[in-house]
Amino acid sequence: MKYEFWFVVGSQFLYGPEVLETVERRAREMAAKLTKVLPYPLVYKVTAKTNKEIADVVKEANYDDNCAGIVAWCHTFSPSKMWINGLAALQKPYCHLATQYNVEIPNEEIDMDFMNLNQAAHGDREHGFIAARLRIPRKVIAGHWTDKTVQKRLGDWMKAAIGVAVSKGMKVMRFGDNMREVAVTEGDKVEVQTKLGWQVNTWAVGDLVKEMNAVTEAEIDELVKIYEAAYDVATGDTAAIRYQAREEIAIKKMMDAEGCKAFSNTFQDLYGMEQLPGLASQHLMAQGYGYGGEGDWKVSAMTAILKAMGENGNGSSAFMEDYTYNLVPGAEYSLGAHMLEVCPSVAADRPRIETHHLGIGMNEKDPARLVFEGKKGDAIVVSLIDMGGRLRLICQDIHCVKPILPMPNLPVARVMWQAEPSLTTGVECWITAGGAHHTVLSYDVSAEQMKDWANMMGIEFVHIGKDTTVEGLEKELFYNDIAWKLKTL
Ligand code: MN
Repeated sequence: MKYEFWFVVGSQFLYGPEVLETVERRAREMAAKLTKVLPYPLVYKVTAKTNKEIADVVKEANYDDNCAGIVAWCHTFSPSKMWINGLAALQKPYCHLATQYNVEIPNEEIDMDFMNLNQAAHGDREHGFIAARLRIPRKVIAGHWTDKTVQKRLGDWMKAAIGVAVSKGMKVMRFGDNMREVAVTEGDKVEVQTKLGWQVNTWAVGDLVKEMNAVTEAEIDELVKIYEAAYDVATGDTAAIRYQAREEIAIKKMMDAEGCKAFSNTFQDLYGMEQLPGLASQHLMAQGYGYGGEGDWKVSAMTAILKAMGENGNGSSAFMEDYTYNLVPGAEYSLGAHMLEVCPSVAADRPRIETHHLGIGMNEKDPARLVFEGKKGDAIVVSLIDMGGRLRLICQDIHCVKPILPMPNLPVARVMWQAEPSLTTGVECWITAGGAHHTVLSYDVSAEQMKDWANMMGIEFVHIGKDTTVEGLEKELFYNDIAWKLKTL
């Protein structure tokens, strides 16, 4: 998909054709210059002067799959009743860029003509009112359009809007059900399809095995070469690597045939398979597919969405699981990993392919997997849970460190982090909010982007950051509960 965003500029006939020509010329210039620095093109569409022009551009945006959102601005005053019909029909993400063409007020030049042409301060307030009045989910970004921070924030919002487009087209392929008795990986598939657009359906493990058996040795040779180019081979068990390649090729063929961008499986249902896909799942994630272990289709879809929101449309985001803590005072860290399946996009160095025994599940042979340490840097962890009647997205700020121990006998990829506001208060907040043990850990998607995404999807958002307290969070969750009950009445 070649995503783009549409620049819609509000005005009216009152000022005469000369002003309107100037507005259009400047809007085209701004869109062209911004396109050079933004992650996606900003395409000038219209200087809107009538109800019909606005309703028409919104209708066109709604039905154009390439249009990932509308950026609106009022160079002049634009009476907002003419926006009501269009905004009421809007189904695309919407950002109000409260900017102006000029940076400074020109002391000598300024007169009433200048004021009539350059009155965004006036027009953007009128425009803001109608979106508030209509309760439209929106992002408001204020500042000069050439300002680096403004451009970065607009770019970040665009990526969150891409997350909306990817979510609305998301198809998840499930192999096997959720792990027996686990609660947090469950969820209402009708609700997620209604709210988030996800199509979550199941395919038989037997069909996957059939597809695996049809994979040729030549196809496996080719993929093994790709593995060898990207990773160090630290095992003599080439059969295990080739088996993972066979699994990857088969899973990818099935997903691509169905248009699925994410998948889940469970170690409790590997009937006819020798190994749980490890390296296979990891390399699929490296290519942008989402994955969730133990049948966790929610985290799988979220992984694919955060990846698409990241740098270059496939960022440093990974399916993750909180495993164990280091609770030494002054060195308090969480250790995250998974049985096998951690995406190498979060690796600090070149990953190694290793084979080890996996006691859990029904593995006949030792599965090959990538082993590495996660990189240092600020990140977030994100968990989507089903509260019964509504979805809650929980996001926590974390700081990843180089793992403080080499852990030579741990045969899986690992990431270590400090959580905000501190490890223990952070854990208390996470548990209070009901966050899962499975998360998406991302280095290049921010909490603000996840808030924007949740806002655009119409779901609850809970942020645990440096200023969060347990008491404050408890109140927020209590009020949210009431608010969401009123909202869904
Ligand atoms: Mn797990």
